[in-house]
Amino acid sequence: MSLDKLTAAIRDVPDFPKEGIVFKDITPILSDPALFRAAVDLMTERHRGAGVIKVAAIEARGFIFGTGVARELDAGFIPIRKQGKLPYKAIEASYDLEYGSATLAMHIDAVQKGDRVLLIDDLLATGGTAQACVGMIEELGGIVHAADFLIELDFLKGREKLAGYDVHTYIHC
Ligand code: AMP
Repeated sequence: MSLDKLTAAIRDVPDFPKEGIVFKDITPILSDPALFRAAVDLMTERHRGAGVIKVAAIEARGFIFGTGVARELDAGFIPIRKQGKLPYKAIEASYDLEYGSATLAMHIDAVQKGDRVLLIDDLLATGGTAQACVGMIEELGGIVHAADFLIELDFLKGREKLAGYDVHTYIHC
Protein backbone atom coordinates (compact mmCIF):
# COMPACT_ATOMS: atom_id res chain seq x y z
CA MET A 1 0.00 0.00 0.00
CA SER A 2 1.58 3.29 -1.04
CA LEU A 3 1.50 6.39 1.07
CA ASP A 4 0.01 8.16 -1.97
CA LYS A 5 -3.15 6.07 -1.71
CA LEU A 6 -3.56 6.93 1.95
CA THR A 7 -2.90 10.58 1.25
CA ALA A 8 -5.41 10.64 -1.60
CA ALA A 9 -8.10 9.18 0.65
CA ILE A 10 -7.97 12.06 3.13
CA ARG A 11 -10.89 14.37 2.46
CA ASP A 12 -10.47 18.11 2.97
CA VAL A 13 -13.59 19.69 4.45
CA PRO A 14 -13.31 23.47 4.32
CA ASP A 15 -14.72 25.63 7.10
CA PHE A 16 -15.29 22.78 9.56
CA PRO A 17 -15.80 23.00 12.50
CA LYS A 18 -15.53 26.72 11.89
CA GLU A 19 -14.64 29.17 9.15
CA GLY A 20 -11.04 29.13 8.00
CA ILE A 21 -10.27 25.59 9.23
CA VAL A 22 -9.68 22.90 6.62
CA PHE A 23 -10.68 19.72 8.42
CA LYS A 24 -8.76 16.57 7.43
CA ASP A 25 -11.46 13.91 7.33
CA ILE A 26 -10.01 10.44 7.80
CA THR A 27 -13.31 8.53 7.51
CA PRO A 28 -12.61 7.49 3.88
CA ILE A 29 -9.51 5.69 5.19
CA LEU A 30 -11.51 3.99 7.92
CA SER A 31 -14.20 2.75 5.56
CA ASP A 32 -11.70 0.98 3.31
CA PRO A 33 -10.27 -2.14 5.01
CA ALA A 34 -7.00 -2.09 3.05
CA LEU A 35 -6.38 1.58 3.78
CA PHE A 36 -7.36 1.25 7.42
CA ARG A 37 -4.98 -1.66 7.90
CA ALA A 38 -2.23 0.18 6.02
CA ALA A 39 -2.58 3.20 8.30
CA VAL A 40 -2.38 1.08 11.46
CA ASP A 41 0.54 -0.96 10.07
CA LEU A 42 2.38 2.22 9.13
CA MET A 43 2.03 3.65 12.62
CA THR A 44 3.05 0.34 14.23
CA GLU A 45 6.08 -0.72 12.22
CA ARG A 46 8.86 1.38 13.74
CA HIS A 47 7.77 0.49 17.28
CA ARG A 48 7.83 -3.30 16.99
CA GLY A 49 10.14 -4.85 19.58
CA ALA A 50 10.85 -1.46 21.15
CA GLY A 51 9.41 -2.26 24.57
CA VAL A 52 6.24 -0.20 24.34
CA ILE A 53 4.12 -1.18 27.34
CA LYS A 54 1.16 1.07 26.65
CA VAL A 55 -0.31 3.08 23.83
CA ALA A 56 -2.06 6.28 24.87
CA ALA A 57 -4.41 7.92 22.41
CA ILE A 58 -6.60 10.96 22.31
CA GLU A 59 -10.38 11.01 22.04
CA ALA A 60 -11.91 10.44 19.61
CA ARG A 61 -10.04 9.81 16.34
CA GLY A 62 -6.83 8.90 18.13
CA PHE A 63 -8.67 5.93 19.69
CA ILE A 64 -9.32 4.46 16.26
CA PHE A 65 -5.65 4.20 15.32
CA GLY A 66 -4.33 3.87 18.89
CA THR A 67 -6.27 0.71 19.70
CA GLY A 68 -5.11 -0.87 16.44
CA VAL A 69 -1.48 -0.04 17.17
CA ALA A 70 -1.79 -1.27 20.78
CA ARG A 71 -3.19 -4.56 19.54
CA GLU A 72 -0.36 -4.97 17.01
CA LEU A 73 2.27 -4.22 19.67
CA ASP A 74 0.56 -6.36 22.30
CA ALA A 75 0.52 -3.29 24.52
CA GLY A 76 -2.13 -1.91 26.86
CA PHE A 77 -4.30 1.00 25.81
CA ILE A 78 -4.82 4.28 27.65
CA PRO A 79 -7.77 6.45 26.68
CA ILE A 80 -7.09 10.16 27.05
CA ARG A 81 -10.49 11.80 27.19
CA LYS A 82 -12.10 15.19 27.41
CA GLN A 83 -12.68 16.53 30.92
CA GLY A 84 -15.54 14.89 32.81
CA LYS A 85 -15.77 11.71 30.73
CA LEU A 86 -13.52 9.32 32.67
CA PRO A 87 -15.27 7.54 35.54
CA TYR A 88 -12.36 7.12 37.98
CA LYS A 89 -9.91 9.63 39.56
CA ALA A 90 -8.09 11.51 36.82
CA ILE A 91 -5.39 14.08 36.27
CA GLU A 92 -6.12 16.91 33.87
CA ALA A 93 -4.23 19.19 31.49
CA SER A 94 -5.54 22.21 29.63
CA TYR A 95 -4.31 23.26 26.22
CA ASP A 96 -5.02 25.48 23.21
CA LEU A 97 -6.35 24.03 19.97
CA GLU A 98 -6.09 25.25 16.41
CA TYR A 99 -9.74 26.08 17.13
CA GLY A 100 -10.62 26.90 20.76
CA SER A 101 -9.26 25.38 23.94
CA ALA A 102 -10.00 22.29 25.99
CA THR A 103 -9.05 20.14 28.96
CA LEU A 104 -8.00 16.50 28.67
CA ALA A 105 -7.91 13.88 31.38
CA MET A 106 -6.25 10.55 32.10
CA HIS A 107 -6.92 8.05 34.91
CA ILE A 108 -4.36 8.35 37.71
CA ASP A 109 -3.53 4.64 37.48
CA ALA A 110 -3.30 4.54 33.67
CA VAL A 111 0.50 4.65 33.73
CA GLN A 112 2.87 2.90 36.17
CA LYS A 113 6.26 4.42 36.98
CA GLY A 114 8.73 3.62 34.18
CA ASP A 115 6.14 2.44 31.64
CA ARG A 116 7.20 3.17 28.05
CA VAL A 117 4.19 4.87 26.54
CA LEU A 118 3.62 5.52 22.84
CA LEU A 119 1.32 8.47 22.14
CA ILE A 120 -0.90 8.20 19.05
CA ASP A 121 -3.26 10.66 17.42
CA ASP A 122 -4.69 11.11 13.95
CA LEU A 123 -3.26 14.55 13.33
CA LEU A 124 -0.66 16.98 14.66
CA ALA A 125 -1.78 20.60 14.24
CA THR A 126 -0.53 23.21 16.74
CA GLY A 127 0.82 20.51 19.04
CA GLY A 128 -1.08 21.74 22.10
CA THR A 129 -3.07 18.54 22.50
CA ALA A 130 -0.04 16.28 22.31
CA GLN A 131 1.97 18.54 24.62
CA ALA A 132 -0.77 18.27 27.25
CA CYS A 133 -0.74 14.48 26.85
CA VAL A 134 3.02 14.00 27.20
CA GLY A 135 2.83 16.20 30.29
CA MET A 136 0.23 13.91 31.87
CA ILE A 137 2.12 10.73 30.94
CA GLU A 138 5.26 12.11 32.59
CA GLU A 139 3.34 13.43 35.60
CA LEU A 140 2.30 9.84 36.28
CA GLY A 141 5.90 8.62 35.97
CA GLY A 142 5.72 7.24 32.44
CA ILE A 143 8.43 7.51 29.78
CA VAL A 144 7.22 8.94 26.48
CA HIS A 145 8.60 6.40 24.01
CA ALA A 146 7.47 8.43 20.97
CA ALA A 147 4.56 10.39 19.57
CA ASP A 148 3.17 9.33 16.19
CA PHE A 149 0.50 11.02 14.10
CA LEU A 150 -0.87 9.86 10.78
CA ILE A 151 -1.06 13.44 9.47
CA GLU A 152 0.94 16.59 10.20
CA LEU A 153 -0.14 20.10 9.28
CA ASP A 154 3.42 21.29 8.74
CA PHE A 155 2.56 24.99 8.57
CA LEU A 156 1.33 24.99 12.19
CA LYS A 157 4.75 23.84 13.45
CA GLY A 158 3.23 21.65 16.15
CA ARG A 159 6.37 19.55 16.47
CA GLU A 160 8.17 22.56 17.98
CA LYS A 161 6.02 22.05 21.08
CA LEU A 162 7.27 18.46 21.21
CA ALA A 163 10.97 19.29 20.90
CA GLY A 164 13.13 16.62 22.54
CA TYR A 165 10.61 13.83 21.89
CA ASP A 166 10.72 11.23 19.13
CA VAL A 167 7.94 12.59 16.91
CA HIS A 168 6.97 10.88 13.66
CA THR A 169 4.28 11.73 11.14
CA TYR A 170 3.48 9.99 7.88
CA ILE A 171 1.42 12.34 5.72
CA HIS A 172 2.37 15.99 5.43
CA CYS A 173 -0.18 18.63 4.54
P1 AMP B 1 -3.47 20.49 18.00
O1 AMP B 1 -3.57 20.49 19.50
O2 AMP B 1 -3.65 21.87 17.45
O3 AMP B 1 -2.22 19.81 17.52
O4 AMP B 1 -4.73 19.70 17.44
C1 AMP B 1 -4.69 18.34 17.26
C2 AMP B 1 -6.01 17.70 17.58
O5 AMP B 1 -7.10 18.41 17.00
C3 AMP B 1 -6.06 16.30 17.03
O6 AMP B 1 -6.72 15.47 17.99
C4 AMP B 1 -6.86 16.42 15.75
O7 AMP B 1 -7.76 15.34 15.59
C5 AMP B 1 -7.62 17.72 15.88
N1 AMP B 1 -7.44 18.63 14.74
C6 AMP B 1 -6.86 19.85 14.76
N2 AMP B 1 -6.89 20.43 13.57
C7 AMP B 1 -7.47 19.57 12.74
C8 AMP B 1 -7.77 19.56 11.33
N3 AMP B 1 -7.47 20.62 10.55
N4 AMP B 1 -8.39 18.48 10.81
C9 AMP B 1 -8.69 17.42 11.58
N5 AMP B 1 -8.44 17.35 12.91
C10 AMP B 1 -7.84 18.41 13.49
